[in-house]
Amino acid sequence: LGPTLCIGEILAEIVATTTGNGFLEPVPMIGPYPSGAPAIFIDQAGRIGGAAAMVGAVGDDDFGRVNIARLKRDGVDVSGIHTDPTLPTGTAFVRYRPDGARDFVFNMWTSAAGALAWTDAVDAVCTRAGHLHVMGTLLGHQTIWEMTERAATMIKARGGTISLDPNLRKELRGDPQTGSRFAQMVGMADLLLPSGDELYLAADLPPEAGEEAALARLFDLGVKEVAIKRGADGATCALPDGSRIHGAAFAVTELDPTGAGDCFGGAYVACRRLGMPVQQALTYANAAGARNVTFRGPMEGAGTRTELNDFISNTKRLA
Ligand code: ATP
Repeated sequence: LGPTLCIGEILAEIVATTTGNGFLEPVPMIGPYPSGAPAIFIDQAGRIGGAAAMVGAVGDDDFGRVNIARLKRDGVDVSGIHTDPTLPTGTAFVRYRPDGARDFVFNMWTSAAGALAWTDAVDAVCTRAGHLHVMGTLLGHQTIWEMTERAATMIKARGGTISLDPNLRKELRGDPQTGSRFAQMVGMADLLLPSGDELYLAADLPPEAGEEAALARLFDLGVKEVAIKRGADGATCALPDGSRIHGAAFAVTELDPTGAGDCFGGAYVACRRLGMPVQQALTYANAAGARNVTFRGPMEGAGTRTELNDFISNTKRLA
């Protein structure tokens, strides 16, 4: 039915090489790395195989060029990526705290990423696409939300499917309408990929309600598959028929956790769209997330199917 499409921010990421609280003192940093949650997702989907396409915007600068080159190399259709001559590529600065939490400084909506607009090139990609993956990071931006809604409606109308990763970052929740947009997208989604409390936010229930109650609410809303990401505890796929299929995580030493969820999602969606059963898709997705955290940089560890097969054969699984 056409490529898997992701719309949203393409960023250059600069990572602090020491842990600490934020950026209130000079810290050594390394980068730029190609980044942006939607870009990481689609890069991993492209590496798995099956058609993948990206809609986004970069500046006419090296931060933009490094991103486009990476996506092209990994088989992603970049015809929907606009090079904006007037604004720089967006940036994300990340520093880890000793407890593993992260502080971000984003320059996203005031960069080329925030000036994204519906063009003929975007229309052409959306007309071809068979699946749209929506990232919660874009819910805070009016124009990009409108583009996403339009693309989702087009793709659904021709029998395509939608996946949603809530990926709710407190730094990006500026717009007061974020909550109602999120609820609308949950209502359109076929597949949901939550982590942490996002399952409960999507179901609009408190965590005390429990996972099964939240899943029941989501299935009532029309969601057909929920892949719950559990970090080092792997992932569980829940289906409306009551099946709960768990995939154990792989034993790795975490170097840089950013991008694990996006690589998990890109691999999971690509594998399911290639017709793989849930258990096999979970194995590839857990491997993609785990492999990625062993590399510094948000998408440096995204793996091809061959790389993931090697990783799966050579890495122990946690119980
Ligand atoms: P992020 O927002 O940081 O990109 P997320 O919260 O959406 O991530 P996680 O559950 O942290 O998602 O990670 C996604 C998947 O990646 C997990 O389900 C697991 O398969 C894998 N993963 C992440 N961290 C680890 C780890 N430390 N060890 C093994 N596997 C991991």
